[in-house]
Amino acid sequence: MTTFESLGVASHISNRLSENGMSTPTEIQAITIKDALEGKDICAMAGTGSGKTLAFLIPILQNCEQAKPMSPTALILVPTRELATQVRDVFMTLLTQPRKGQPRIAAIYGGSSMERQIRDLTRGVEVVVATPGRLIDLMDRRRINLENIKTVIIDEADRMADMGFLPPVVEILSKTAADRQTMLFSATLDGDVETLIKRHMSDPIRHETTTKVR
Ligand code: ADP
Ligand code: MG
Repeated sequence: MTTFESLGVASHISNRLSENGMSTPTEIQAITIKDALEGKDICAMAGTGSGKTLAFLIPILQNCEQAKPMSPTALILVPTRELATQVRDVFMTLLTQPRKGQPRIAAIYGGSSMERQIRDLTRGVEVVVATPGRLIDLMDRRRINLENIKTVIIDEADRMADMGFLPPVVEILSKTAADRQTMLFSATLDGDVETLIKRHMSDPIRHETTTKVR
């Protein structure tokens, strides 16, 4: 049976997952986490409820625990504010309380105070989860520095496309290093998402699953 540790997940993280009732990776987690930890580009198609959030959050957490730069190293792009806060909350559940110097995450989204988000960024964070519009707003105001970004996640790429967010996503990608790792998660694949994959990802490993957690 596949375990998180057999995929290369550090024991303090897999222990934390077990404490949260997750001792076995879901199918999409089992086929993506190892490659994600190794920095490969990945496109993962898997239905709602298949566990895509942890498939990218576990590698992000593990990889950013090693680096302590002055600006974020991982950027997660999501289509809605609800998803941004949800991803932030799931990330927080992975943190083990007493460990000093734990990675920090800021959620950046529209319809909410920009001052508060700027304050979070100024304090220093390793991970940013953002909706494209507000992120570009903060980039234009020079309130966020993307030069240390090593990994970009595009979550719910199909919904991003439906909502017309692919142009801002491409604009954001163009402001990050060309040798970054890019991972794209989606329930379905349509033409616009395919174009983004072809133009902005480097030889990604493709995965597709059908099973659901619930
Ligand atoms: P998706 O983004 O693919 O729609 P989520 O990442 O939101 O799915 O996960 C759906 C549910 O599955 C969440 O409630 C999450 O806590 C649960 N889950 C994720 N991974 C596991 C796991 N390895 N074992 C048990 N439950 C899990
Ligand atoms: Mg999801």
